[in-house]
Amino acid sequence: MKPETLAIHAGYQIDPTTGALTPPIHLSTTFERDPDGGFARGHVYTRDTNPNRDELEARLAQLEGGALALAFSSGMATFMSLIQSLHTGAHIIAPNDMYFGVQRLLREVFADWGLAITFVTASDTRQIESAMRPNTKLVIIETPSNPMMNLTDIRAVADIAHAGGAFLVCDNTIATPIFQHPLELGADAVIHATTKYLGGHSDVLGGAIILKDAHHPLASRLQVVQKVGGAVPAPFDCWMLLRGMYTLPHRMNIVNANALQIAHALNNHPNIERVLHLGLDDHPHHALARTQMSGYGGLFSFLVRGSADDAMGMTNRLRLIKRATSFGGVHTTIEHRASVEVGTSTPHNLLRISIGLEHPDDIWDDLAGALG
Ligand code: PLP
Repeated sequence: MKPETLAIHAGYQIDPTTGALTPPIHLSTTFERDPDGGFARGHVYTRDTNPNRDELEARLAQLEGGALALAFSSGMATFMSLIQSLHTGAHIIAPNDMYFGVQRLLREVFADWGLAITFVTASDTRQIESAMRPNTKLVIIETPSNPMMNLTDIRAVADIAHAGGAFLVCDNTIATPIFQHPLELGADAVIHATTKYLGGHSDVLGGAIILKDAHHPLASRLQVVQKVGGAVPAPFDCWMLLRGMYTLPHRMNIVNANALQIAHALNNHPNIERVLHLGLDDHPHHALARTQMSGYGGLFSFLVRGSADDAMGMTNRLRLIKRATSFGGVHTTIEHRASVEVGTSTPHNLLRISIGLEHPDDIWDDLAGALG
């Protein structure tokens, strides 16, 4: 089935008791035991399983073409559970330009957990190759990366990781399963901050990991960490995510087209130093984007000519576009990333923009007016 159909039907069933088309929200934390003490209806306690989470995990697995999906309470809880699934002594390779929250998690929270971590420029696959060690268990990539919009060659990194016996995880939050299928390109798992495009309306926090092989040893570790660790999403949050995901393919196609149009217009503006959009011919990873992705998505960055104050000043003259963190919602949002990131090399004059569902002419009028 095509993504437009999967986004609505994967994991979905009409409520067997009432016939309701829209699934009910199962808030119950506990489920009735059978007379023999069993649970023939499949649910025991909502930290272990919940009907809304089951539906969400089934839909995520099918959209990504994976065998197993595990949902968590946030994108960060997903990364935390993944790292907690490793054993002491493991070596991890991670990009030095990935979402700074994950960098902080690795540098600050897991710094003294007996794990070795090497940060690399992941777009240069030779750096990954030379960082590999006999105890490298996990290679993390984020492509496109947030906010620099760099790409990593998933197929090439999968070969390197597998040659060394490591597990390759790709953060697919920015591309979404509509524009990129890391599992088909060789990754072992995909991570999403479902908070972003999958939810799609800036009203629910969530995360998920989708694995290609449900029988990989890391799959059973992750299942234990999910159920026993308990960083699971609430039933209402699962329901909200499923509701948002119905329209994912359509939202992605609109923001993809509109972001490219805005990026071209910005690229021709005299007050713009540089536009970091994968669809522009001058982006260093444009050729890879065309082979590895089927669209560029709705998120990109641009450098305003001048200082950090010039960039911030421009955002203060916007009327329609909102100054806010995060991305993937229906409202176009903009953010001066250097002032929120700790310890990254993001340029001081960089603004990251998440194109929403407004008409592109109105978005452009607002940007052009603020740029002067
Ligand atoms: N991965 C990427 C690419 C992100 O941009 C973010 C958040 O911005 C995360 C992971 C973390 O997700 P969450 O904010 O849901 O914890």
